Amino acid sequence: MGGDVIAAVSTPRGRGGVAMIRISGDGAIECASRMFVPAGSTPLTATRHATARYGRIIMPHGGEVIDDGVCVIYRAPHSFTGEDTSEITCHGGVLVTARVLEAAFAAGARPAEAGEFTRRAFLSGKITLSQAEATGRLIEAKTDSQLKLSSSTARGALSAEVSDIYSSLRSLVARTYVTIDYPEEDLADITPDELRAGAVAAAERLRRLCASYKTGRAVTDGVETVICGRPNAGKSTLFNLFAGEGSAIVTDIAGTTRDTLRADVAAGRVLLHLYDTAGLRDDGVDDPIERIGVSRAREKISTAELIIAVYDATEKPGDGDSELLNVSAPAKIAVINKADVASDENISAYKALAKAADTPAIVMSASKGDGFDELVAEIERIFTDTEIDLTSDAVLATARQFHEAKGALDRVMGAIAAIDNGLPTDIAAGELEGALAHLASLDGREVTEEIVNEIFSKFCVGK
Ligand code: GDP
Repeated sequence: MGGDVIAAVSTPRGRGGVAMIRISGDGAIECASRMFVPAGSTPLTATRHATARYGRIIMPHGGEVIDDGVCVIYRAPHSFTGEDTSEITCHGGVLVTARVLEAAFAAGARPAEAGEFTRRAFLSGKITLSQAEATGRLIEAKTDSQLKLSSSTARGALSAEVSDIYSSLRSLVARTYVTIDYPEEDLADITPDELRAGAVAAAERLRRLCASYKTGRAVTDGVETVICGRPNAGKSTLFNLFAGEGSAIVTDIAGTTRDTLRADVAAGRVLLHLYDTAGLRDDGVDDPIERIGVSRAREKISTAELIIAVYDATEKPGDGDSELLNVSAPAKIAVINKADVASDENISAYKALAKAADTPAIVMSASKGDGFDELVAEIERIFTDTEIDLTSDAVLATARQFHEAKGALDRVMGAIAAIDNGLPTDIAAGELEGALAHLASLDGREVTEEIVNEIFSKFCVGK
């Protein structure tokens, strides 16, 4: 059953060749028929599923003609939302689009909330929760890898794996209860050994799924990264190397190089939230603007997940150079820069400095771009599992999904422990039921209203 009739502009705001207004819900076709007069003698309400009609868009109740356009009719359940849907395409001007939407409201629709179309698709069982989440990310994707991953999740790669593990666990639980309840029947008999083997196999798949989150997170959420080093080491040059890559979006270019620059960039498959900081000089900084820059840099370094420490190898290592590699960030890389003009002796000295701090070192010439591929490969090695194929493998991409997969794994491990301790098999089956509940919340309809709201609130209107 569909919901009340909602409408929104589903194409991006602003001027475009065409715009599409989507109307969905019980009565969506009747609603459209009050504002769309098709050419020909068949009324709009008699239009067959997946059929386009050309006609005039009017203000309802005898109002003026707004535009001409095309209306495509989809009948439940064969639409994106699973409800009756009319999609009206008109000329894409801002004013025209607004008037057509207004006409839809006058014809009885109410404004759709953010994500409401996708939410209805989920509620009517057209897509799973992870597919809905991925649809949201697909629209927002900034990098090629984000696009690949969200597209494969939207097509159901994760849902398929989760539902497979779910079925295997459900069958173990069912067979265990049948064995307990009907010991004489040997149809579905299961021994504790078989139960254990089944649980071990599921645990292995869940472990692999949990491990994929490292990659999914790096691709989807990205890694907070700070480029730091002395003034003139080549930080801005390196920053521009990253930002110059096709997918870069420089979000915050400050007016002065003393401030912090930020860009979302792709380092291979990894999304980096990259900060270029002001030179890390404390002493003798009298200029208040520069001091603000320095304290911001320190603040960024303390919360970063990856520190890229850039060294100017035309100068010998000096005081404070090793300090940068002693900060407690989860990952650090030393970039030994200006290798095109630096002496081998200096390069070796910086290598030794990095080695002492147990940090990988990349010898580079940022201005020439030499060594950049090695730097990117190192970042991918640290933050992703290179075995994972983003276009086809099941990958966890959100903290919520990881939490549920981990919860399921813990309960399956509980089941294995129960069997190993010689407890009755119904204890193990109870644990497996707990795992099933986690998997159902990962991808199913058994999630709380609150979580569903949270997921769809991140969408924009019209999706
Ligand atoms: P920042 O102060 O750390 O941001 O340093 P910049 O990126 O502004 O670079 C300082 C100077 O070093 C500039 O003149 C750059 O052209 C130069 N530079 C940066 N990287 C290299 C390099 O790899 N080789 C050489 N020869 N010069 C470089």
